[in-house]
Order: sequence, then structure tokens, then C-alpha cells
Amino acid sequence: MTVPYKHEPFTNFATEDNKKAFQDALAYVQTQLGKEYPLVIGGERITTEEKAISINPANKEEVIGSVSMADQELAEKAMQAALTTFETWKKWKPEHRANILFRAAAMMRRRKHEFSAYLVKEAGKPWKEADADTAEAIDFLEYYARQMLTLKDGIPVNSREGELNQFHYIPLGVGIVISPFNFPLAIMAGTTVAALVSGNTVLLKPANSTPVIAAKFVELMEEAGLPAGVLNFVPGSGSKIGDYLVDHPKTRFVSFTGSREVGCRIYERASKVNPGQIWLKRVIAEMGGKDTVVVDKDADLELAASSIVYSAFGFSGQKCSAGSRAVIHQDVYDAVVEKVVALTKTLTVGSPEDVNTYMGPVIDEKSYNKIMSYIEIGKKEGMLLAGGEGDDSKGYFIQPTVFADVDEKARLMQEEIFGPVLAICKARDFDHMMEIANNTDYGLTGALISNNREHIERAREEFHVGNLYFNRGCTGAIVGYQPFGGFNMSGTDSKAGGPDYLLLHMQAKTTSETL
Ligand code: NAP
Repeated sequence: MTVPYKHEPFTNFATEDNKKAFQDALAYVQTQLGKEYPLVIGGERITTEEKAISINPANKEEVIGSVSMADQELAEKAMQAALTTFETWKKWKPEHRANILFRAAAMMRRRKHEFSAYLVKEAGKPWKEADADTAEAIDFLEYYARQMLTLKDGIPVNSREGELNQFHYIPLGVGIVISPFNFPLAIMAGTTVAALVSGNTVLLKPANSTPVIAAKFVELMEEAGLPAGVLNFVPGSGSKIGDYLVDHPKTRFVSFTGSREVGCRIYERASKVNPGQIWLKRVIAEMGGKDTVVVDKDADLELAASSIVYSAFGFSGQKCSAGSRAVIHQDVYDAVVEKVVALTKTLTVGSPEDVNTYMGPVIDEKSYNKIMSYIEIGKKEGMLLAGGEGDDSKGYFIQPTVFADVDEKARLMQEEIFGPVLAICKARDFDHMMEIANNTDYGLTGALISNNREHIERAREEFHVGNLYFNRGCTGAIVGYQPFGGFNMSGTDSKAGGPDYLLLHMQAKTTSETL
């Protein structure tokens, strides 16, 4: 008997005990830096010559760890291990698979600050962001385990006199899980365990910039009792082993979270039926966003400003749900812009190890250069009102940057920058606001700040995003409360942390017996 699902609470760092516990965790992780992490294939630990060197984005000199990288030969070995193990794992009772997730959740809860401290070090997450990432990973473990228990007996269908009909879900096979750097624990763990608890075996390829936290998670799953070969850890270059695994005829499905560019590539390649392949592959793709906070003229203007600022700059704007655009009604435009700029200027930028830091670095040099080049584009497309500067001497720091008076079709309003850059655009009326809100290729999250009931109901219908929020920011979805995933070029319309997510990893079998 399991207790009802309730999401993992966030840590209150205002209390001295919690602060001390987190500082202790950071000090512990400091003693663990620089270690080597092997591949794990069929339970065997394999060390390779080629390594991904994970560095602290806030301090380029500091090495978090070095992680062995799989080549195609080792990727093939992992595929064979996963294929063999699938034959036994698929026969495990769903409730026994779920128990491993419950155990892993309990273990991660006990080591919560340790996992968060790795996120501070490896991903540059400030305390609160790291704590939320770990809480979400725990939530995924708890929630998907519970979901499996509700699905294990299938769904009732009609039987007739003399005929017994049943409808059950069975697993698919070997899944390739490819995860991004920005929720290197929550998304990596969530996509992995959804596949596992449904009875599939997995090859996990984490993002190259955050492989150590993934290695720690794989260790935890082993300690929680996952049999060898069920979860195979194959870090490697996306371009070297990514295509190989996506194209592989024995790959049954790919669960990808990352950029639109890579997601579209995977979707296209996975659609080709290769020699020896006897199914059509499934692709679950969660891709980018260009998310908007819309401010109506009947709005609480303080709430509007804080919703815009915290949605734009949380984790340095490196969330797929980041509110990188604000669309403001002309009647309140000047007042809201002024508040946004004032609030932005209060944000602290610095080492994520300091509890008082609001914004840490961006993930790496490539991101830093890309974001700085968008700031140059912004200087031509809008009026720079805050930030605009970066400093990559020690780590990859960029000031929270605000551009106002940006045209609705400008690049800053259309392209995912994935950094701390906010574009603000003026709207004539509510029709115009909805038109701008829907004018990108994406459809991930959005928010409307308004006290006008008619406009709230209209937005509920017209604002075409997977996650729409009223009178709050557009980030921070919680597993089991706000299932998460977007429309259009934001992905394949799946909802992580939602009641139908596990079904994407299974197929239904109908049996009919004449009695
Ligand atoms: P990314 O560059 O697309 O990388 C994502 C993953 O794909 C990494 O593990 C990467 O490996 C791998 N990869 C690269 N090339 C590949 C290939 N040819 N075949 C297979 N895999 C390949 O994305 P990111 O920069 O890590 O993450 C940021 C992006 O993720 C943003 O666009 C954001 O909006 C999106 N995102 C979406 C959601 C959502 O739920 N919709 C959630 C989080 C993030 P390497 O690291 O080795 O390149």
C-alpha cells in the first residue's frame, strides 16, 4: 500500500540548519571532484581512453570529473546487453519494477543535498534551482512508480457471454534515452525511469557537459536494486554515437530532450526502416521553446514585473520554459517596463556556491558565445535597458539583459537564445497580444497576467501552448500537478509527469478467449 502522491517540498534556505546542511554537502562534493567514471554496460564497468572532461562552468579551472566515452563498438555492446536483459526484465512484475523506483526515491531523498551540490558544481545551478532539480527527480521516481501500479492490470474492456476480453500494456523493447544539460538530474532521471518502470531496457546518453551527475544517478539505481543490463550508461559524443543508436535496427524507441535542431534530426532518421528492423520506431521528443509572458491592461503590475523577471532569468534563462519574451499592453507598457528594469538590476550574478546568488553562469563557451552574439543582434533590434555584458575570464557569466521596443517579428522575439536575454514588445489590444503570443514556431509554455475574466477564458482557448499559466510566471511545472510538454516545434506533444506519459513507452495487447 503506497501513500498518496505529494510532490517533494523545496528546501527553505532561510533556516540556519538547512543552510548548514547544504554547505556541508558542497564541502563533501568538493572532496569528490576529479574522479573518473566508467561506462556501465550489462553491469560491467568499462574505462575508455577517450574521456569527457566535465568542468565547473563558474570556474573553468575546476574539473568535476572525467567520464569514459563510448564509441560505436561499445554502443553496439550496450545494445546487445540491453536486448538480452529485455527478455528477463519484461517478465518482472510491474509492482516489483515500481518498488525499485520507490527505493531509489527514498535513497535520493536522504542524499538530496549531495545530489543538489553536484548540480551546483557541474551545471552552475544556484542553490534554489539545484534543490528544485533534485526534488523533481525524486518526484519523477515516485510518480512514475505510482502510475505503473495504476496501469499494471490494463484497462477494462467489454466481455460478452462466452467470451473473455482483456486489454493489457506490454513494454516495447530497447529505448535510447538522450538527455539535455539544463535539467541534468530531473529530466535525465525522469525520462530514464519512465522507460524502465514500463518494462523496457535503456541505453542512457547524457549531455556531454553534465555526465557526472548522470553517473551518480546510475550508481544510485544500481544500489536501489536495478539488475545489471537494464540501465546501460553510454556517455559519448552525440554526433558519434547518437546517429548510430538512433539508426540501429534493434532500437525500439528514442526518448529525446534537447534542441529543436537535434530533435528534428532524430525524428527524421528514426523514421527510416533499416535492414533487419521489424517495427516502426517511436520517438518521444521534447524540444525548444520561445515562451511568452503576456501582460494585460487590467493586471497587477508588480506581479507582472516579477513574473516576467523570474521567468526570464531563473537558471540564467536556460530553461525550455524560460519566459524570454514579454508582450505588454500599450496602456501599461511604460510602467511595467520600468518595474522590470528596476527588478532586473537587483538580481545578483556570481558563484552559484554562494547562497545569495540569484544567477550563476551559462553552461559552456559555446553557449556563452551564442548568447553574446544574440546580445549584439538585440542592440540592433531593440533598446538595451539592462545588462548586455558578459565576463568569461573565470566562468561563463552574462548579466541579465533586457531589450525593450522589440518588433514582434524580430529574431530576438522568434529564436530560442537559451540565456539571460529578455525581449519586450508592445501590443495594441488583447487580440494583438494573442496574435503575438502565437507567432513563433514553438508552443511550450506561456503566462497571462490579467484580472479580466473574459480575457483569461479567451486565452485558455486561444493561447496555443502545452503549459499555460494565469497570474504567475511560465516556469516551474511540478510533476503530477502540471504535466509538462509543448506543441508545434516544441516536441511530439507528450506530457512528462502526466498520467498518459508511461503509455508512450508501452504497447497495448488485446486478448480474447472463447469460454
Ligand atoms: P542539445 O544540444 O540538443 O543536446 C541534447 C542531447 O542530444 C545531448 O545529450 C546531446 O549530446 C545529444 N545529441 C547531440 N547531437 C546528437 C545526435 N546527432 N544524435 C543524438 N543525440 C545528439 O540540447 P541541450 O543544449 O543539451 O539542451 C537545451 C535544449 O533542450 C533547448 O533547446 C531546450 O529548450 C531543450 N529542452 C527542452 C525541454 C522540454 O521539455 N521541451 C526540456 C529541457 C530542455 P552532446 O551533449 O554530446 O552534444
